[in-house]
Amino acid sequence: MENSKKELKVKKKAVPLKGMMDNVMEQFNSAADHINLHPNIRKILSITNNEILVNFPVKMDNGNVEVFTGYRVQHNGALGPYKGGLRYHPTVDLDAARALAMWMTWKTSLAGLPYGGGKGGIKIDPSLYSQSELERITRRFTYALADNIGPEHDIPAPDVNTNSQTMAWIADTYMSTRPPALRSANQHVVTGKPDGSGGLEGRDRATGFGVYLTIKFWAERNDMDLSGKRFIVQGFGNVGYWASLFLEQDGAKLVGVQDAQGSIENQEGIDVENLFSYTQKKGGTVMDFPKSQLVDKNDFFAIDCDICIPAALGNQITKENAPRIKAKLIAEGANGPTNVEGEKILLERGIIIIPDILCNSGGVIGSYFEWLQNRSGEIWHLEEVLEKLRKKLNGSFNRVYNYAQNECVDLRTAAFCIAIQRIEKAYIQRGIFP
Ligand code: GLU
Repeated sequence: MENSKKELKVKKKAVPLKGMMDNVMEQFNSAADHINLHPNIRKILSITNNEILVNFPVKMDNGNVEVFTGYRVQHNGALGPYKGGLRYHPTVDLDAARALAMWMTWKTSLAGLPYGGGKGGIKIDPSLYSQSELERITRRFTYALADNIGPEHDIPAPDVNTNSQTMAWIADTYMSTRPPALRSANQHVVTGKPDGSGGLEGRDRATGFGVYLTIKFWAERNDMDLSGKRFIVQGFGNVGYWASLFLEQDGAKLVGVQDAQGSIENQEGIDVENLFSYTQKKGGTVMDFPKSQLVDKNDFFAIDCDICIPAALGNQITKENAPRIKAKLIAEGANGPTNVEGEKILLERGIIIIPDILCNSGGVIGSYFEWLQNRSGEIWHLEEVLEKLRKKLNGSFNRVYNYAQNECVDLRTAAFCIAIQRIEKAYIQRGIFP
C-alpha cells in the first residue's frame, strides 16, 4: 500500500452526500487530511460495507396490514463485529443510517473496543402505535433482518425511541428462530437488554453517566468547579435525564430543557427528579412544568448557561443558532448534534465541544461490558460497572485531550484522528484480500 499512497487520486465523495452524511464526511475528511491517511484506506472508509433495507408487513390492532421500512447499515468491520443502535423515528432513512453507522465506527475505535460501526432503525413515529403493535413491528423487523444481525456479526442496541423492552423482543425473536441447541448461546445478539434478560446493571445510565464524566474530566483539566455551574439539556430521554442527574449531584444546576414539544427555563434551577416524575405523568413531555417559564423553540440554545448538552437528534446546532449560544462548553450527548457550519462558528467563538464520539461513548462501552458478560456468563454489579466505565472513559478522554493539545487541533479532530489511525493500522497490518 505504501508505494501507491501518493499516486492515487482520492475520491472524496464516494457516497451521495446530504444531511448528516455531509457532516460526518466533512469531519472524517478533515481528520484524514490531518493524519495524511493512506488514500486506499480513505477510499474504503468513505463508503459503507453493507446496506440492508427491508420492507415488511405487520398486522395492526384493527386488523389492517401496514408495510414498514427498516434499515441496517454496516459501515466498517475492520476492528470486529458491527455495533450500534436501532432508532424508531420518522427521520430514519438510508442517509441517516449511513452517517450514524460511520459515527459508530469512529466511536468504537476511539473507545478501543473490538467492534466496527453499524446503525439502523425503522422510519416510524412510535407514538402512533400501541405497545402490542410496536412489539409485532419489532419482532417482524428482527425476522426480516434475519442473519444480517448476530452476536458475532452485528449487534444492535437501543437508540432514539427504542429501549430495553425493544431489545428484549429482538433477543427473544432472534433466539426463537435459531436451532434449539443454539438459542441461549445467542442472547448477546443485542445489548441494552433488561436486567432480568441478560442485561447489564447500569446500562440504562451508561450514556448519561459518560456524558457527565467527560464534562467532569474537562472541568478538572481546566480548573473549573462544576458546583454552581448552570446547564441546559436538549432532550430529556435516557441520556438527558441521567446526565442531568449526575451533574446535579455534583452541584450543577439545570436551568433549561427542550423536548420535542417545547422548551422550559428556570434560572433558579429545575429539580431533575421532580421533572422526571412530572414527565412520567404527562406522557413524556416537560411542557408546563410548574415553576418554569416557557421559552420559544428558537431561543432555547440562547438560554444563559455555562454548559449545553444537546442530547436529542442530529443537526440541532447550526449557523442559525450557534452565534447566540451562551455556553462555554458543549457536551454532545446526541450523535451529530452540531453541523459543520454551526461548529465553525462555535470554534471561532472559542466555545469548546466535547465531540459525540467521545462524549456519548459511555453507552457503547456499557454495551461492550454487557456483551462480554453474556459471553463469559459473569454478572457484574453496578459499582463495578460504573468504575470500569469511568476508567475506560478516562483513558479515551486523556488520549483525545492530549492529542488535541499536542497537535493544536480541536477535540473532534483529535478524536477522529485517533479513531481513524487505529483502523488504518489494522488495514496496514492485514492488507486487502485477495
Ligand atoms: N445507540 C448508542 C450510540 O449511539 C449505543 C450503541 C450501542 O450500544 O451499540 O452510541
